[in-house]
Amino acid sequence: MSVMYHSTRSENVTVSASYAIMKGLADDGGLYVPEEIPKLTASVKDLAKMDYKGVAYEVMKLFLSDFTEEELKNCIEKAYDEKFDTAEIAPLVEKDGAYYLELFHGKTIAFKDMALSILPHLMTTAAKKNEMKDKIVILTATSGDTGKAALEGFADVENTEIIVFYPKEGVSAIQEQQMVTQTGKNTHVIGIRGNFDDAQSGVKTMFSDERLKAKLKEAGFQFSSANSINIGRLVPQVVYYVYSYVTMVKRGDIQEGDKINVVVPTGNFGNILAGFYAKNMGIPIDKLYCASNRNKVLFDFFQSGTYDKNREFYQTSSPSMDILISSNLERLIYYISGNDPRKTGELMSALSGQGKYTITPDMEAKLQDFEAGFADEDQTLETIRNVYQKANYVIDPHTAVAASVYYEKASKSPEKTVVVSTASPYKFGKDVLMGVDESLDENASLWKESPSKWVEKLESISKVPAPKAVRGLMEAEILHKTVCDKDQMEQTVCDVLKI
Ligand SMILES: *Cc1c(COP(=O)(O)O)cnc(C)c1O
Repeated sequence: MSVMYHSTRSENVTVSASYAIMKGLADDGGLYVPEEIPKLTASVKDLAKMDYKGVAYEVMKLFLSDFTEEELKNCIEKAYDEKFDTAEIAPLVEKDGAYYLELFHGKTIAFKDMALSILPHLMTTAAKKNEMKDKIVILTATSGDTGKAALEGFADVENTEIIVFYPKEGVSAIQEQQMVTQTGKNTHVIGIRGNFDDAQSGVKTMFSDERLKAKLKEAGFQFSSANSINIGRLVPQVVYYVYSYVTMVKRGDIQEGDKINVVVPTGNFGNILAGFYAKNMGIPIDKLYCASNRNKVLFDFFQSGTYDKNREFYQTSSPSMDILISSNLERLIYYISGNDPRKTGELMSALSGQGKYTITPDMEAKLQDFEAGFADEDQTLETIRNVYQKANYVIDPHTAVAASVYYEKASKSPEKTVVVSTASPYKFGKDVLMGVDESLDENASLWKESPSKWVEKLESISKVPAPKAVRGLMEAEILHKTVCDKDQMEQTVCDVLKI
């Protein structure tokens, strides 16, 4: 069966999966969605015999139906190799009754690696299939983790340039250092004076700027996106939900057919939407818990049916979730509207115009797959401490937001629960240490020392060796120093491309 894609805002133009990946965002500003979410064809029994790569093929082939078997397997082989520090790729570990799905074993120690290690291969394969001659310019806004994972994925990939914008004051010290030390002659990293939403809006504006696109075309360039709006990001993320379910069956944690819950620390709604796709493919997921940090725009949306970004923006210890405009929610809106592109477009223009919209009661009734919860900064820190004290397991602040929602809500349900663990504690060492060690607060003298000292301390506490990604990081040479105002992003792109 072949699956075609169209925009969430109009159904007039349908495109192949490879074309959707190459383009990133539809011309009308909408997000590509499959005409139908395919059902799994392999049985749980068969999937349970496969490794991560085998499951990846079985899931992805259904969405990316215009890729040949050879093309897709080739992409999968190149992505899920020794870049990951465990052959399991996505280990599932039980701690204090919850099943933590560790998605941080890739090169940049956050879950974005799960999709961004394969996206460059999908994209270059897609460009070849579509006989695209232009050089692809990956334009990306990051709240910290996407940027580094995309830079690692695309560094020195033939016929691509990658430009990453990040909020100069809005990412962790480790995240910034990871990005500004990135090697690769096609990589460009720019700090902006603004927050993540400014960066994301700036990028979206460039994507739909016809004049700019024409200027690029003339110079032999074409934009694409590595953000989670790209269907090539979403599809590889469906894999680990399927994989975790079959792993639980294989181990005897559950029987085939038993339902599970998942709790997902959520920002741009990409990760949890992939869980929704897995459920619609046939994986028995009962509830998808959307866990927010103090920026709880999604929690409020699920409570009230109104999405309202007009509110104060907080910087938290989980910066990759510091988001007020959750892009991928547009795909869910499309589904709950009964696949109505007109209604979806109407709500999205209300969002860009008034900064808010309210869904209809009919739409609200279709949200029963989801539950929402949130954790403020104190609860996040407390959860890091609790999990450490109860299970000797050190989690990062993003995972702690999800774990907090697990204890508050999901743990009360009879089903077993997967808590999606999205970053290594080493990536957010300072906040993690303040969580596990009550004697450390903001004024501790440890913070005046080099972060390599914090890393040592974390090693001795967690008994987990520091991953390659943080060793030597603070001593690495800084290669990217450009900073711009949020209204200079377009000019900066033109400067980088020399057009
Ligand atoms: C990006 C990110 C998230 C949020 O994922 P979304 O797909 O944007 O909802 C959560 N935790 C970490 C560590 C991340 O990098």
